[in-house]
Amino acid sequence: MTKAQKELIAEQKKTALDVLRGLLPASSYVNIVYVGGTPAVSRFRVLQSDPVRTDGIVDLTWFVARALDMKTAKDGSLRVGGHGLNRAYTIVYGLGRALYPNGSPCTGEDCASNDHNNGDQDYTVGKIHSDGGYAFRMRLI
Ligand SMILES: [Zn+2]
Repeated sequence: MTKAQKELIAEQKKTALDVLRGLLPASSYVNIVYVGGTPAVSRFRVLQSDPVRTDGIVDLTWFVARALDMKTAKDGSLRVGGHGLNRAYTIVYGLGRALYPNGSPCTGEDCASNDHNNGDQDYTVGKIHSDGGYAFRMRLI
């Protein structure tokens, strides 16, 4: 890989992270579509319901691939090692860690953080949950 290619990849990753940060506030649903796969690899696309448009959804797959340095199939879907729909959660968790590397903010009563499942009853908005991986909810569609 040339220096120029490495720079392009780094630039695309930064852009992808910026776009995803803008589209996916903490506690958003990340919609995952299972595209197919083999016993060794599952393929997924990532979609976001667009709060602005009413005529459809935004395909975030390219941005997620760049943001998380994931491999893609010929059709652009994300390739995840392993079999089964639970592999989809690795994408959602990875997104949370990438977008909230220093922890995710509590969003109050609708907060998606796993801390609340583990007994944390403090829903103070803005409080930081230490693991950003639980910033988002997953919806398989
Ligand atoms: Zn919370």
